[in-house]
Amino acid sequence: MKMLIQGESVDAEGAATFSVANPATGEVVDSVPKGGREDAKRAIDAAADAFKIWSEKPSIERSRVLLKIADLVRSNVEDLATTLTLEQGKPLGEARSEVNSFANTCEYYAGLIGRERGAQTPFSTGEGFFIVTKRPLGVVGAILPWNFPVSLMGWKVAPGLAAGNTFVVKPASTTPLTDIKVAGLLGRAGLPPGAVNIVTGPGGVVGEELLDSPKIAKIAFTGETATGRRIMEGSAKSIKRLTLELGGSDPMIVCDDADLELAVEGAAWGRFRNCGQSCTSVKRLFLFESIADGFIRSFVEKVKTIRVGNGMDSSTHMGPVHTNEQREKVESMVEDAEGRGAKELVKGGRPQQKELAKGNFYVPTVLGDVDYDAQIAREECFGPALPIFIVKDLEEAIERANDTPYGLGSSVWTKNVERAYHAAERIQAGTTWVNSPPISRAEVPFGGFKQSGFGRELGIEGLDHYYETKSIQVLEYGKGKKWAFPIN
Ligand code: NDP
Repeated sequence: MKMLIQGESVDAEGAATFSVANPATGEVVDSVPKGGREDAKRAIDAAADAFKIWSEKPSIERSRVLLKIADLVRSNVEDLATTLTLEQGKPLGEARSEVNSFANTCEYYAGLIGRERGAQTPFSTGEGFFIVTKRPLGVVGAILPWNFPVSLMGWKVAPGLAAGNTFVVKPASTTPLTDIKVAGLLGRAGLPPGAVNIVTGPGGVVGEELLDSPKIAKIAFTGETATGRRIMEGSAKSIKRLTLELGGSDPMIVCDDADLELAVEGAAWGRFRNCGQSCTSVKRLFLFESIADGFIRSFVEKVKTIRVGNGMDSSTHMGPVHTNEQREKVESMVEDAEGRGAKELVKGGRPQQKELAKGNFYVPTVLGDVDYDAQIAREECFGPALPIFIVKDLEEAIERANDTPYGLGSSVWTKNVERAYHAAERIQAGTTWVNSPPISRAEVPFGGFKQSGFGRELGIEGLDHYYETKSIQVLEYGKGKKWAFPIN
């Protein structure tokens, strides 16, 4: 596959390429150009040219293009989802749902754009009025991770295009293929060539060029907190706008009055969807003492039914970990916890089946008696291993939940609305789900507290992050005399 610059499929300047592997089999799926700084520069120039055209389009036209994009993506869902499963590893059903969520996000912003209203406000001193308007930022650099390559591109390009911006997208090097295909469809929906460019290549080269370029107005980044720090430093030179969606270590709190059947399903969904590789996966489970034994019995039974396998096989519930490096990180966190006395309530680890030997598979693992100082309790575990902690009440659960540098998602499970609200207001996280696994919706703002990042994607707030706010101050005729110079 090739990259996309100014509406054309192109190779990298030096014609170098790199291959993309299937995490379930180790086989090469395809190869893509190994772009460099010159390729990124060409894409930035193309996006800057396209900005002159796209930013002047009336909102109704931008809205129609977004709806057309959604249609095209939906009508290609099978092809896109298959490519996504092959390069990322997630089961085909999850891949379909991710592709459809890209279309949902486009539809949401197509509906929102043109319906915003402002106000004209008189000066407090009475000699005129002001109007606050919104202007698009310019060229945005979107830097994507590998866990949700398609939906997270949608979270950026849908509001960004709706607001009149243009893009250079840098997909993760292990998942560029579906993003290239989606970007190809965008061109067919009536976007000017160059409005969305895709440059494949190493983050340390292509990504760094996006940070260095004074022509890039904003970086919209999703990825690790450590990379987020580098993005902040690199963006400081030209004071770029930033949206940073970083890591999380999300707590799930199950109270003694929770619907346990629902909570067991929620914990399984929350931890093992996408093989535990969601920023908002349930990463620490807190159970009230009095329900802990019953919950653990049902949860252990549930987790043992999870079928690990190739995402292309319709009987698979959970695919492989995305890379072997990622699998090793999960393994070392489990070993560290066990070294500190944790017990395997569900014994996972590398599967024994021969047919899974070539992939990065890891069977779901559930740990009890976990030390609060274990790595799995203190750092983000980006894979299918879950530590369980027992707490005496809600106050202890909240205190433990907040004892992390992260603050992305969280959930509380209870039938008592006062308890739910009390916890939701006190947990330091951008989202608290009540009696629900972590599900993102186009209309709800999403983002982190603390070191999980800043800025918001999705919702009305997500659109606002693609605008500059402009104030226009108007003096009424005849009322400006008091501003004569010199000042008396
Ligand atoms: P990384 O931070 O490693 O990579 C993300 C992107 O940044 C990739 O495209 C990568 O390129 C690029 N990159 C790497 N170095 C630089 C650099 N110096 N300058 C510019 N770009 C660079 O994250 P992962 O892909 O490993 O994604 C997993 C992480 O993302 C997890 O920690 C997870 O929690 C977090 N995440 C957060 C979400 C949120 O919304 N808060 C959502 C999803 C994931 P390359 O691939 O070429 O290295």
